[in-house]
Amino acid sequence: NKHFKLARRPEGMAKQDDFEMAEAPVPELKDGEFLIQTDYISLDPTNRIWMADIDQYMPPVQVGEVMRAGGVGTVIESKHSGFEKGDIVSGIIGWQTHAVSNGDFVQKVPPLGNVPKSALLGPLGMTGTTAYFGLLDIGKPKEGETIVVSAAAGAVGTVVCQIAKIKGMRVVGIAGTDEKCKMLEDELGVDGTINYKKDDVAGKLDELCPDGIDVYFENVGGEILDAVLPRMNLFSRIPLCGLISSYNAEKPVPGPYNFSQLLMKRVTLQGFIILDYQERMGEAVKELGQWMIEGKIKHKETVVEGFEKLPEALNMLFTGDNVGKLMVKV
Ligand code: NDP
Repeated sequence: NKHFKLARRPEGMAKQDDFEMAEAPVPELKDGEFLIQTDYISLDPTNRIWMADIDQYMPPVQVGEVMRAGGVGTVIESKHSGFEKGDIVSGIIGWQTHAVSNGDFVQKVPPLGNVPKSALLGPLGMTGTTAYFGLLDIGKPKEGETIVVSAAAGAVGTVVCQIAKIKGMRVVGIAGTDEKCKMLEDELGVDGTINYKKDDVAGKLDELCPDGIDVYFENVGGEILDAVLPRMNLFSRIPLCGLISSYNAEKPVPGPYNFSQLLMKRVTLQGFIILDYQERMGEAVKELGQWMIEGKIKHKETVVEGFEKLPEALNMLFTGDNVGKLMVKV
């Protein structure tokens, strides 16, 4: 069993030597346990939060522990009555090639048909369901309304854009390269895009959202949030999903400077964590799966080959080198 342990708390972007890779024999299974062989390890911006000793929604990973991460794997041996050899499972597996589990935080996946296993980390997994509940429950979209999505070409963003189109919204996506903007428009049917690294974001928002913004799906924070706030409509909504622009920050981050707009425009801003929707997962996965079968939701992914590449692959989320769901194939 190869694994990566957190060797020390990173400062800024995580570095290779913030982790220690080691190999150990797989322990003998006890009754009620099964052995998972990892197929894909999910890389998520929140992994960087888990490495930091800060107040957060889960306990941070401790120095010396195997790095926590979502993943998909196959059961190769079982002494657990609910899991048998050959079962596909998804859940918290960690940065390791094999994991012994008692079933906590791991679910058995029903037969997938034509859907690829990797989609269990994308549209049918944590990022897809985050898009689903964030947009539908908190964003409360209405046909004809305008939505702006930040980190639009990422795992959550691509699914938000596509669900918003299904709901008849006018969709404006913000992303960091022209290629990502083109993909959003040509492949996912997004109505307009902004390359925030090149364009004047405020000016482009005025041009692309002539009737203002009804929903802002927030993945990023910082300057983009400040450009969006003055353009929010009366009684508009902001599902606050993530603030990736600050996850590597070494000091508290100031702003948003246009915070008063939440009051002036009576905006509802609600933070949410997908863990809160555990009991409703089935409903989201069923509808997302149906949309995938109908071709209304396309699965975009970036797959990095090689377990050893985990630390460097994680940083692709912060440099913008991923399109759609980022994962490592073990
Ligand atoms: P993505 O696949 O979207 O990858 C992150 C993307 O963010 C990058 O590709 C990059 O794209 C963009 N980005 C990185 N740094 C910056 C920056 N400083 N300013 C603007 N954009 C930046 O990741 P996910 O889809 O997994 O996650 C997206 C967001 O959703 C994150 O904030 C994450 O924490 C949050 N999230 C929240 C969950 C919840 O339960 N609340 C669950 C899952 C995710 P670009 O080239 O466009 O810069």
